[in-house]
Amino acid sequence: MLESVLIANRGEIACRIIRTAQRLGMRTVAVYSEADAGALFVQMADEAHPIGPPPARESYLQIDRIIEVAKRTKAASIHPGYGFLSERAEFAEACAKNGIVFVGPPASAIKAMGLKDAAKALVQQAQVPVVPGYHGSKQEPDFLRQKAYEIGYPVLIKAVAGGGGKGMRRVEKAADFDAALESAQREAQNSFGDPRVLVEKYILSPRHIEIQVFADGHGNVVHLFERDCSLQRRHQKVIEEAPAPGMTPEMRQGMGQAAVEAARAVGYVGAGTVEFIADGREGLRPDRFYFMEMNTRLQVEHPVTEAITGLDLVELQFRVASGEKLPFSQDDLAINGHAVEARLYAEDPEKEFLPSTGKLWALEFPEGEGIRIDTGVEAGAEVTPFYDPMIAKVIAHGATRDEALTMLADALGETVVAGPRTNAAFLKKLCEAEGFRAGQFDTGFIDRNLESLGAGPQPADDVAVSFGAAALISREIDRLRMSELQKSDEPSSPWSAPDGFQLLGVRSVGVPLLVDGERAEAREVFSTEHQGASTVAFGSSDPWADEQVDREIDAPHGVYVLRNGRQTLVQPYDPFDVDLEHMDEGGSVKAPMHGKLIAVFVLPGERVEKGQRLAIVEAMKMEHVLVAPSNAEIAEIAAEPGAQVAEGARLIVLKTEE
Ligand code: ADP
Ligand code: ADP
Ligand code: MG
Repeated sequence: MLESVLIANRGEIACRIIRTAQRLGMRTVAVYSEADAGALFVQMADEAHPIGPPPARESYLQIDRIIEVAKRTKAASIHPGYGFLSERAEFAEACAKNGIVFVGPPASAIKAMGLKDAAKALVQQAQVPVVPGYHGSKQEPDFLRQKAYEIGYPVLIKAVAGGGGKGMRRVEKAADFDAALESAQREAQNSFGDPRVLVEKYILSPRHIEIQVFADGHGNVVHLFERDCSLQRRHQKVIEEAPAPGMTPEMRQGMGQAAVEAARAVGYVGAGTVEFIADGREGLRPDRFYFMEMNTRLQVEHPVTEAITGLDLVELQFRVASGEKLPFSQDDLAINGHAVEARLYAEDPEKEFLPSTGKLWALEFPEGEGIRIDTGVEAGAEVTPFYDPMIAKVIAHGATRDEALTMLADALGETVVAGPRTNAAFLKKLCEAEGFRAGQFDTGFIDRNLESLGAGPQPADDVAVSFGAAALISREIDRLRMSELQKSDEPSSPWSAPDGFQLLGVRSVGVPLLVDGERAEAREVFSTEHQGASTVAFGSSDPWADEQVDREIDAPHGVYVLRNGRQTLVQPYDPFDVDLEHMDEGGSVKAPMHGKLIAVFVLPGERVEKGQRLAIVEAMKMEHVLVAPSNAEIAEIAAEPGAQVAEGARLIVLKTEE
């Protein structure tokens, strides 16, 4: 076995790789950016070395610096994880040049599969069915529009250098083609430094089914069955499972064989995933699946394959990288039960899934047979805006699909996160959704069911607000008691005014609150004192008597209340504590999140109409279009395109028309 490994990654996948490496007796070396100095993977590794400032470009993507650390620490190998440098051929080459084993395929295989157009052409030659479309080199809009017409709408425009669902646009009709092309090319240029695209048929009722392949350096290639990753949002996976519902042995055999052929065609070694799109209109059919791309690395969702095969894919990666043969052949492999993974993200489904950063005031996961949690953070850590905001992968393995889904839904329900908003409740609803449960779904399932999945604005959770307010008042009473004991003078604020909080006996007060940052109405609160201890509750006739919340988590700035997987932050509101700097006096357009201002479409003095596009902010792999909130005149453009902007930063000042 290899003596040591440097992990050129961060977060949950770095932790996951370290765990296996340590079990195999390998020395582990972490590299980290300034933002990750206190991270879990840094603590877990045997040694850790800083490689630069928070932006990935200046740290995790710095090939020279990472190689330098590997040489200095005499690391025998480098594991790139997923994302970052994992699919960069020049990184694999740099490892080879310096006598370091790259735990991944040969650079030539990465290169061959790196661009979607070339990859399609290549596997086509190996008789693997590909999505019909144009994947040649011509890029003129007129030509591509003509091709789209020939392919037949709807079509999908894809960045050839794409990844992570970026640079992809579905186009319904010819009239929309040019705008979609322009925006796909711009996103491709910004994200990958390569504007080229291909155009392919948009497969109807698409099911994303991928095959895990494994190859050793001795000519053995096997597949480890399929994963179904059809539950997606914005072309990104949300829930993944293995095996795929509705899969027949015949189709599995056909897809597995095609994937093995694709891997052989590029001389593949190690773990790889061949992604197919299947036409699911009449259920899965062996003649209706098409190659999309090959990911030449470990995949985010590899744990579901590990669950049903009983294998440790990272261990296999190390074994193959050190020259060992695969310890099994295709016939030795069998599927055991069913596994499902959910990606728990720090994002807010109620606000268009915007990433939600900040400190994790609480973080707890359930434990139990068949439940696996892969995470890279712990309570007290910060979710920063610099990287993918994934908090954890929650994986359930059961005897049947139904059992696994029930286990996963329960596990999500028992997961506690306070601070950043998460998609936990949304994921739980997904696991329980009827159509999905019945195996009737495709990649459009989430978009079609957003409302019933609880995505989009929701009314405040009154019960949670009440419990939160009660907790705050109890806290205030305790504080007043303490200060009375200490005979200190409290500064006056509505939250310490005597008539509000000398709550002896039963009485009601109006409480000024902030609920999730919004000013909320005052509510009636009753406090009873009994034998020196006060209980605070809402309504003596008690509409809430039967209600319960899951958890209350105290933070210095307020109380996080968790109920039915949803988080409500209740804070005392102090009207004298107004943030003048961020007050919105005449109307201004602010950055919805930390990100990069990539385009401004208007000029000072210009008149704009309500709903008109003003600018685009790119953050966390997505473009956010900012529109005029009302008819107005542009008074000022407060930031330059290209600038990094902070959440809430004023970008455009508007003079609103009467
Ligand atoms: P998977 O099928 O494994 O989810 P993705 O293409 O979605 O594959 O990407 C895997 C991970 O790599 C994602 O979680 C994403 O954060 C990261 N990733 C994808 N593309 C990029 C990129 N261009 N730069 C950095 N990270 C990326
Ligand atoms: P990426 O490199 O971003 O992962 P993919 O080519 O794998 O790009 O596509 C991402 C997702 O987009 C797929 O999982 C699938 O849901 C959808 N998709 C891709 N190609 C097609 C297609 N031709 N028809 C329908 N959906 C597609
Ligand atoms: Mg893909």
